[in-house]
Amino acid sequence: MFCIVLTYSYLCNMQSKVLLIYTGGTIGMNRNPDTGALEPFDFEHLLQNVPELQQFDTQIATYQFNPPIDSSDMSPRLWTDLSHVIADRYDDYDGFVVLHGTDTMAYTASALSYMLENLTKPVIFTGSQLPIGQLRTDGKENLITSIEIAAAKDEEGHARVPEVGIFFGGHLLRGNRTTKQSAEEFNAFESFNYPHLVDAGVNIVYHSNRILKPDFTKPMKPHFRLDNNVIIFSLFPGVREDLIRHIIHTPNLKSIVMRTFGSGNAPQSPWLLKALKEGTRNGKVIVNISQCMQGAVEMRRYDTGYHLQEAGVVSGYDSTVESAVTKLMFLQSHYDNPDKVREMMIRNIRGEISLL
Ligand code: ASP
Repeated sequence: MFCIVLTYSYLCNMQSKVLLIYTGGTIGMNRNPDTGALEPFDFEHLLQNVPELQQFDTQIATYQFNPPIDSSDMSPRLWTDLSHVIADRYDDYDGFVVLHGTDTMAYTASALSYMLENLTKPVIFTGSQLPIGQLRTDGKENLITSIEIAAAKDEEGHARVPEVGIFFGGHLLRGNRTTKQSAEEFNAFESFNYPHLVDAGVNIVYHSNRILKPDFTKPMKPHFRLDNNVIIFSLFPGVREDLIRHIIHTPNLKSIVMRTFGSGNAPQSPWLLKALKEGTRNGKVIVNISQCMQGAVEMRRYDTGYHLQEAGVVSGYDSTVESAVTKLMFLQSHYDNPDKVREMMIRNIRGEISLL
């Protein structure tokens, strides 16, 4: 069974306390001498490479997923484990930094944003493109600034960033707005439809007007259930009727993230609209997300989008795919009624969509 163990706790007292959670990813990886491939390595190794952590004014405790994983192996069960790690220790820390592989970081950050309701403390995801032991690593800067952001408080003593974010390449982005954009550049992530929450240059600039404001008088409410009866599919010219029908009639499937063209458009083939209508009638929730990184779905803009609305497809607005699929997992674990899931999909519940 997968387990998580507390491994390491050190450093001084002072004001803020941050829990550094290591799930795996390139930041802590080492090269396997036999295969030459990068593989997850333990936390001690990672910490030894960042002696700078000892200069912090912040108390840092650490927690490790055992074994650490490549984020391609992330799963809803591990999201639940991660939510437990945070929720069970929520009162003991001022903020949380999660070290995570970049490949699925945007999915995990999105899932956690839904699972941790009324979050009053920062949960900052980061990682790196080069392992922390390498000379040109981007891991140190990402880690150090993430801890600084996780520990930051305003004049009233409240967290400056009480939300789930991804810090990478000098920017803090809203987790459920973020997509991995590059497997090559240090600036690996972008939130194309929402401005940066924080920009870290010579100074760390907090854009407070863009940051979520929870109710600090109420407790954070964790949720641990997810229902992954969902699929993502992309439309393309030449998409086949038999294959689409196969997906739409999959018995346990509850929802579909359908990636459409441009501002939410699809071919006008009668068979497609009929299949989508049948799916909706059978209780499947079909969400329209654009294949474009930037911009929003507007189903009333073209005739090709308008028909989708008539077929019961709901707009995903300017949502990322990562956010839509994890929001569906979260909602359908809470509501049996597909109409309720549809109603919540078109509501902004964690800052994940911009409603016009
Ligand atoms: N494959 C790695 C992972 O996602 C890539 C990375 O960490 O950047 O775990």
